[in-house]
Amino acid sequence: MEKDIKFFTNGKRIDGRAIDELRNIKIEVGVFKRADGSSYIEWGGNKIYCAVYGPREAYPRFLQKSDRAILKCRYNMASFAVEERKRPGPSRRGVEIGKVTQGALEPALLLENFPKCMVEVNIEVIQADAGTRCAGITAASVALANAGIPMKELVPACAAGKVDDKIVLDLCKEEDNYGQADLPLALLPRRNEFSLLQMDGDLSEEQLEEALDLGRKGCLEVYEIQKEALKKKYVKEDVSNE
Ligand code: ADP
Repeated sequence: MEKDIKFFTNGKRIDGRAIDELRNIKIEVGVFKRADGSSYIEWGGNKIYCAVYGPREAYPRFLQKSDRAILKCRYNMASFAVEERKRPGPSRRGVEIGKVTQGALEPALLLENFPKCMVEVNIEVIQADAGTRCAGITAASVALANAGIPMKELVPACAAGKVDDKIVLDLCKEEDNYGQADLPLALLPRRNEFSLLQMDGDLSEEQLEEALDLGRKGCLEVYEIQKEALKKKYVKEDVSNE
């Protein structure tokens, strides 16, 4: 829904960013003792936890695949995550986001290594501020690495969009609510292919190309932040000179 809102002032966006600038992102790896892998992400005003279990025997058994593990992704938003208290429990939106998260992550995992097993990803949104599916996918892929699930690559995600006829990166809440288009993307960086591409709103063919290019650039920046978070967890400082 468009609204009469001033999206740009002296070339800067509502929150002071340039059109191609991400919000601040901070990722922590291994935040829960009891899950096999976990992460926490702060992305602008979004605060999201992710816990991974598995690979373990798939249950109920009729879900088992003889040639690979199945990936289950659950996305949940806390009642207090949004301005108006959200009704607790499953929602259509949550089911949809769980499904697209699974689709975004699956091509990056070596699920064929674990027949009849399942890998479970739980995403808990504690505070939402637009772009939670991208932040959730980004956090989940780091938590999967933390769980030691064999992967071909990490999966960074990020949205591009259109406000005031301009293509911008990583929509903030006002831009998401009142802008003209929202394009959440997840990237398989080594293959240079998108594993998530959704679109809400209108874009011309040229604008779509521009949004995909900008979104790819954003995903590659997110990818660096993911790698840094994992390095911080696993790479010890060089102590050979001590
Ligand atoms: P995403 O979080 O991936 O951008 P949406 O486009 O569906 O997904 O939601 C945009 C934003 O709208 C969310 O990040 C959240 O801030 C807000 N939102 C989503 N669901 C609700 C809800 N039930 N009540 C209030 N705000 C919501």
